[in-house]
Amino acid sequence: MSDTTELVSIDPATLQEVGRTPVTTLTELGTRIERAHNAFATWRTDRAHRQGLLAACSYELMRKIPEIVPLFSMEQGKTAEDAGGEIWISAKCFAHNARLDWDDVTEAPEAAGRTARIEHRPLGVVAAIVPWNFPVFLLIAKIAPALAAGNTVVVKPAESVSLVVGKVVEILQSTLPPGVIEIVHGGPEVGRALVEHRRVRKVSFTGSTGVGRQIMRQAADTITPVTLELGGNDPAIILDDADIEGAATILAKNAFFNTGQMCVAPKRAYVPADKIDQFCDAFAAAMDALPVGYGLAPGTKVGPLHNKAQLEFVQGLLDKAVTGGATVVKGGGRGTDLPGYFLEPTLVRDVDDTAEIVSLEQFGPVFPVVAYTDVEDVLATLDEQEFGLGASVWGSIENAEKVADRIDAGSVWINQHNALEVELPFGGTKSSGFGREGGTAGVEDFLDTRVISIKH
Ligand code: NAD
Repeated sequence: MSDTTELVSIDPATLQEVGRTPVTTLTELGTRIERAHNAFATWRTDRAHRQGLLAACSYELMRKIPEIVPLFSMEQGKTAEDAGGEIWISAKCFAHNARLDWDDVTEAPEAAGRTARIEHRPLGVVAAIVPWNFPVFLLIAKIAPALAAGNTVVVKPAESVSLVVGKVVEILQSTLPPGVIEIVHGGPEVGRALVEHRRVRKVSFTGSTGVGRQIMRQAADTITPVTLELGGNDPAIILDDADIEGAATILAKNAFFNTGQMCVAPKRAYVPADKIDQFCDAFAAAMDALPVGYGLAPGTKVGPLHNKAQLEFVQGLLDKAVTGGATVVKGGGRGTDLPGYFLEPTLVRDVDDTAEIVSLEQFGPVFPVVAYTDVEDVLATLDEQEFGLGASVWGSIENAEKVADRIDAGSVWINQHNALEVELPFGGTKSSGFGREGGTAGVEDFLDTRVISIKH
């Protein structure tokens, strides 16, 4: 909720106000971008110094976990355990980028009469625009490599998580030189002004595919390069020779992590028709270990959805699926008496690819299971679909590798799902976006190339 000058953060479990954040005026936005631009001249010069400060950021974040967690949980809705885990992995991402090595200069092929060198240089001010589902990690996954590469950063968090992101940025600002990291608050209009600003030399965006399209258009006038980490609708394909119970148990935990609001959550399973009962029984049994409730209450594993629109969207998909003949195996209720945006983990079967709960990115705690008889049909369906973020294949490694080879996605996991590591490149293909975060590829995404060629 917001008026034109203030963003109001609401606890999605209790619907109580958590706090307010002033919207950044366009004049102030220009001032902050200018500060980041001015800081760039010095920040870019000394890589060892930069990486030392990134290590300090890692340490500071780790130290402040107990201080950040309550606010994070109240404003976002996630459990205390997940909020702490997210800050921990963010600190790890800083540490990884503090250690990372890459070539600032690479050798050019020899030619008669000249010598040349190929330099890999920072771009300048980077805009980091992030969504509400993992507002801390998705931010650090951008700014740690961007800063390591020698850029400065202006951050714009999703409106509804301004307090927690503001707090994290404050911690980083107290560790880094002035202007190296700046923050602006507000809705799409503030995001747009940031993207279109002439001083911004790169936009790194994580969010929905729809907004990703707009950002690409907005960046066109200034020919600003963009990295887009967009939506996903990850399938889990269970093969005949899979450990059915094992796969179902792991997928249940993954599907409802962060209340299903995760770009790379498994969002549907394709299961051999004769193994559906076995799969659903094991999946439903694993759901017993996922109590719903207030994120800060001990024992809670699943919190509310983050906002009303998201709850209504997911509930609508579930209702339509049931009207269309789907069976709810388990769940479907709210799971708590709290007044917030709750929908308990829900397993549905007897759906096919035409049901919206399967074909759209539901981004919530409803998991559909689709029966198949020929895996070629599953692969043909995936080929037609717009997203290509992640996928998992479950079975003997030999068979799973053959199926994985046929899937267009940024990550394909075998006998696991959502196995993200800061050391590995991550990103999407098709409508899930382009560009990579993580590993050395993450830093390369924030570097430009310059050739210096000398005639002798
Ligand atoms: P969103 O696209 O609505 O918003 C993301 C950010 O963009 C917010 O900060 C928002 O204020 C800003 N924004 C909106 N319009 C803008 C504009 N015109 N110009 C500049 N900025 C603008 O996303 P959301 O609802 O916050 O997050 C959910 C979506 O994010 C899901 O689709 C999910 O799959 C996706 N996501 C993707 C990844 C990934 O790594 N691929 C990770 C997490 C979430």
